[in-house]
Order: sequence, then C-alpha cells, then structure tokens
Amino acid sequence: MVKGESRAASGEPKVSEQDGQPERLLLLVPTTSYRVGDFLKAADRLGAVVTVGANQKQVLEEYAESRTVTLDFKDIAKGTKQIVAFASAHPLKAIVSTDEETTLLAAKAAAALGLAHNAPHSVEAALNKHRFRTLLEKAHLPCPWFKLFSLNHDPARAAREVSYPCVLKPVALSASRGVIRADDAHAFVAAFQRITRLLNEIEAPPESTVAHDILVEGYIPGIEVALEGLLEAGQLNVLALFDKPDPLEGPFFEETIYVTPSRLPRSAQDEIREATMRAVEALGLCDGPIHAELRLSDEGPVVIELAARSIGGLCARSLRFGAGLSLEELILRHAMGLPIESMEREKSPAGVMMIPIPHAGILREVNGVIDARAVTGAVDVTIMIPTGQRIVPLPEGDRYLGFIFARAETPEAVEACLREAHRRLDFVIEPEP
Ligand code: ADP
Ligand code: CA
Repeated sequence: MVKGESRAASGEPKVSEQDGQPERLLLLVPTTSYRVGDFLKAADRLGAVVTVGANQKQVLEEYAESRTVTLDFKDIAKGTKQIVAFASAHPLKAIVSTDEETTLLAAKAAAALGLAHNAPHSVEAALNKHRFRTLLEKAHLPCPWFKLFSLNHDPARAAREVSYPCVLKPVALSASRGVIRADDAHAFVAAFQRITRLLNEIEAPPESTVAHDILVEGYIPGIEVALEGLLEAGQLNVLALFDKPDPLEGPFFEETIYVTPSRLPRSAQDEIREATMRAVEALGLCDGPIHAELRLSDEGPVVIELAARSIGGLCARSLRFGAGLSLEELILRHAMGLPIESMEREKSPAGVMMIPIPHAGILREVNGVIDARAVTGAVDVTIMIPTGQRIVPLPEGDRYLGFIFARAETPEAVEACLREAHRRLDFVIEPEP
C-alpha cells in the first residue's frame, strides 16, 4: 500500500510502524499569520495529527495538551530547544512554517531532529537581502550592483556613493515594506531617512544582526513575475507562474494583481524557470516551498527575491492542483512524505488582487462588497481589516485591506474581473485626529 493511503481512506491518523506514535506535524504559526486557518484545514484533510507552535500562549493550551505549544520565535536557539523537548514526548514527522518569520526556526529545529529541511544558512540567506545578493553575485548570476549602508551612515554622503535610479531596502524586512526607489540624491536622502524612522519604530526581526542596515541596489526596469515552486530534493517543481500586470515602477512597490497562467511566451517562461533554479542552487535551498520574484530586464530575467516559503497573504487561495488540492495541502503532503498525485495547477486561469491601502487613516466603512462579489468571474472578496482600525499604506504598512479572487476563461478576463470588482469597492477612510 502506498504510504498515506490508509489514513486518507479511513480519516484516522496514521500510526507509524516503529513506535506506535501518531505521525505528528508541527505547524509554526506567527500570531500575525493570515494562514493558520488554511493550513489547519489542509492538515485536517490529510488526517494529520497537528500541533500548533505559536509565540503566544494559546488560551486552550492547558486544556488541549500537545495540540498547541508556546515557542520563542525571536530567540531561535531557545525556540529550537523547546521544539526538541516537545518532540521527545511527541515525536514529530515534519515541521512546517506557515510564514517567512518562522522559516529559520523550522529549518534549525528540523536539523536538530534529523527531519527533512533546508540548510539553515540557505534559509538565512533568503531572509537577508544583502546575503542573497552576495551569493547571486558570487555564483555569477544576473544581479544589479548593490551596496550596504548602516543606519548611522550619513545619508548625504551615501547619496554620492551610489548611482541612479536605485532602490533602497531594509535588509531584513519583507512584503515590500520600506522598499523605495530613488531617482536622484535628493530622493535618496529622503528615502534613507524614511527607512531609518521605520526601522527605529519596529521591532527587529528574529535573530537579526542586520536589522538596521539598508541595502541599495540598481533599479532594474522591466515587467515583474512571481514564481511559486516546490523543491523536492533540490529539484524545482513550478506550481504556478504569475504575471503582475500593474506596473511596479515605484517609488513604492505595492503588490496588487497576480494572474496565472502567465501570458509570456513559452521561451520567456523557460528562462524564468532556469533563472529561479540557478538562484535556488546559489542559495543551496533544497526542500519545500519557494516564492520567487523576478524582473525581465533587457538581458533576461533577474531574480529580485527568493523566499523559502509559499506565497503570502491569502493569495494561495487562487491556486488549486490536481484533483482540487490546495497549496497548503500540497506543502503538507510533501512535508509529511505523502504521495502527491499531481502538482499540475487546474486548467482555469485564476488570479488574486491584494487590495492596497490607498492612504493612512481610520477605516470607517467598507461598501460595495456584495456588488464586487457579483462581478462575473469573481470567486470571493475578503476584507481583512475590521472597521475602526488604523490603516497605514506602504512603505510603512504591512497589511492589505483584503483580497479579491477571480477565475475566468482567459488571463485577460481574470485581470478585467479583478479590476472591476476592485472598482466597485469603496473604502471610507477618516483622517486621523
Ligand atoms: P521584500 O522582500 O520586502 O518584498 P523585494 O526585494 O522583493 O523586497 O522588493 C519589493 C519590490 O520592489 C519588488 O517586488 C520589486 O517590484 C521592487 N524592487 C526591488 N528591488 C528592485 C530592483 N533592484 N529593481 C527594480 N525593482 C525592484
Ligand atoms: Ca518581495
């Protein structure tokens, strides 16, 4: 019998042959995660026994022993010890990180327990924009010029040490937070100061010695795509290639529309796959999901970012594989060593729009959701921020107002549907007192 079949058939947790213990999955879920529900649903469909590892004590922890465990996500060495201790009482089959914040802890704990994992230094390189660029350059891969500045560097002096246009970015943040384009020295100084303020306001990301550095790199013109992949023993399976039809030219780089399949010619798609694979090799990633962003420059694709995680927000809901598997199910099946019948995305073109925050203020009303959902092709419209909350746009903000999902006959129709649904939404944002 193929591994996993019995469980799928009976719905009962599978019991490993060796020790009579159920095969347990540890899900590392930051409190800020959008995705805990989707991952738990996926785990449930697999019939896996799940423990949720969180950085805040869960209300039910005392009552639901072994179903949740509090872990230190900031102090990775401590978090690793906590996971190893938990695993000695509750053997783990796999550790899966739902979000970027916990990829390093997952890799280190998996290494300590002898489970399949990416090398921690590879995951660290994916988390650190400067180390990432350094590795690409060392591997002679296409890469813009780049230069690292610490926050105590004089911005006016730094402005004379770079060329234009360029992009400034905090080394250790994500989701385009603090990423700003500068076309001249004046814009550079303003961007540098703005990022400095942002970094001084927020907590340093876990185990980051470089939380306070700014990477500056050459601006690469060209359209942008995102590749969703799953690594199996270093081999890249392309799960989806998304076009990003809205221009991303700065000064801030707000993500909006993602549409798959890509409308690019086959040859360009092959080059994108190749470039991603070479970046994966340069970092030494080998296992689990990746999310890559590339720009198509005149000389071919340039990898802007390679993350050792799956697509963020609720965007994964735009994807279905084989007989209807979610991306989360695919990731969990891979992690648990269960067979995956097909990694082929469904035939229908699909897309998602991350609804950007137009300006700062207090979100007072959200109107037009029913009208937006009524657009032909619109699958769902999900608003993520409750009214009454303060909202902050990029480059400082780190959330979206919500997500619009669409399916249609063609990628063009998916894009048109997302735009029309967005047009029907009306957000009443009151200036802050
Ligand atoms: P993050 O990890 O915070 O998402 P990225 O490095 O992915 O930061 O940058 C965010 C966005 O900024 C990219 O998706 C891209 O649109 C734009 N960007 C970043 N670096 C460059 C660059 N060198 N040239 C052109 N655009 C860039
Ligand atoms: Ca990015």
